[in-house]
Amino acid sequence: MKVAIIGGGIIGLTSAYYLNKAGYDVTVLDKGDLSDGCSHGNAGMIVPSHIIPLAAPGMIAKGIRWMFNSTSPFYVRPRVNFDLLKWGWTFYRHANKMHVAKSIPALKELSLYSKACYQQLVKDLPFDFGYAERGLLMLYQTPETEHEEAETAAIGKRSWSKSTDPSAEEVQSLEPDVRVTVRGGIYFPGDAHLTPQQFMQQLIPYLKKRGVSFVTNSAVNDFSMQGGKIASVITDQSEQTFDEIILATGSWSGSVAAKLGITVPMQAGKGYSFLVNDVEKNIRIPSIFLEARVAVTPMGKNIRFGGTMEITGVDHRISINRVKGIVDAIPKYYPDLKVAMPEVKNIWHGLRPCSPDGLPYIGRSKKIQNLTFATGHAMMGLSLGPGTGKLVADLVTGNSPEVQHLMFDPERFD
Ligand SMILES: Cc1cc2nc3c(=O)[nH]c(=O)nc-3n(C[C@H](O)[C@H](O)[C@H](O)COP(=O)(O)OP(=O)(O)OC[C@H]3O[C@@H](n4cnc5c(N)ncnc54)[C@H](O)[C@@H]3O)c2cc1C
Repeated sequence: MKVAIIGGGIIGLTSAYYLNKAGYDVTVLDKGDLSDGCSHGNAGMIVPSHIIPLAAPGMIAKGIRWMFNSTSPFYVRPRVNFDLLKWGWTFYRHANKMHVAKSIPALKELSLYSKACYQQLVKDLPFDFGYAERGLLMLYQTPETEHEEAETAAIGKRSWSKSTDPSAEEVQSLEPDVRVTVRGGIYFPGDAHLTPQQFMQQLIPYLKKRGVSFVTNSAVNDFSMQGGKIASVITDQSEQTFDEIILATGSWSGSVAAKLGITVPMQAGKGYSFLVNDVEKNIRIPSIFLEARVAVTPMGKNIRFGGTMEITGVDHRISINRVKGIVDAIPKYYPDLKVAMPEVKNIWHGLRPCSPDGLPYIGRSKKIQNLTFATGHAMMGLSLGPGTGKLVADLVTGNSPEVQHLMFDPERFD
């Protein structure tokens, strides 16, 4: 069986890993050279504690408030664009308690499954990728955020995740090497982290060694069809035939699916990160500055700061003001950590593939017999990567999936 995986981000590569393991002849096709992209410079957090979809109550009001501040963590570039309007309307319709309650069990299951897959990968892969299970600290400075976060943690406690609520002094004792100025925190001990570029850049040669083929700098821009199946995949360089096709094209999935006549609403949610190398004293536990929505992850001797969500379409421009928002937040939480504004060349950006209901698209197409979708993981792609890859492999090989996936129906908006 020949399988084409279109897209070599974390979702494509983990799908390739499990399909190759199942004995399939796998080819990964990517429009880029796989040296960078959304799956490389992200915050590296594996967070089963965070399974409330982006489309949740309060997000619209918060989003509107943030939109008028150029250093805020969230922005939607207003533009007359039918896809964006439809996406926004669908998001609005899903930002309610009922949708959150329905989504949590499916996201919880996939997230815990994916973490277990990472634990197995640590044993099975012959390279280190910085995987560590030290939990996640959510840090807050105001009584309002304390109240909001306590409510979120309470939903968590009811349905899936253990947490504690350390005082400012207890947060400091969890971080003995770096001074932390907060009102308090919520600690999720079940979370983990890794160094994403280390994972991605070693997984590619490992897969090549195991016989996976890679066709890079080759954009898939069309398909030929025969008898309800994709007969061939057409790139700007060649036309190839495969038995099964996996669509894992991240933020570009809406336009790739459109070539197949399938509507997969998707908006790119741009985020930035930068790495501070060789810090004298590093934090021990990945943290999120709640008011500033900044994610901070220790990666060996380095520390990565990341954040912002700009719904601006597939757009690679860097908004310096928003990066400044991240830099300005650092001394408010870590007053002794001196971090200068990074040079533009050192600012990384990635486009998160965001569905309008905050749920990924994972499953076999009902319209096209040999097509499987694996995309739309938004802020959770690294967390949900291997779990998605294994689920995709089970769907393609015909094994019974080990997790529920009906909520992730890729054609739910078609
Ligand atoms: C600042 C930031 C921090 C983040 N932190 C975290 C975190 O801590 N934890 C977490 O779980 N997630 C995090 N994320 C989200 C995570 O990075 C994404 O969800 C994930 O990388 C998406 O992976 P993907 O494989 O779906 O897409 P991508 O990595 O974007 O891969 C898609 C691939 O498809 C290729 N492609 C597209 N179109 C075509 C075509 N027509 N033909 C061929 N190839 C094509 C692209 O070139 C690309 O390589 C973060 C994101 C950002 C921006």
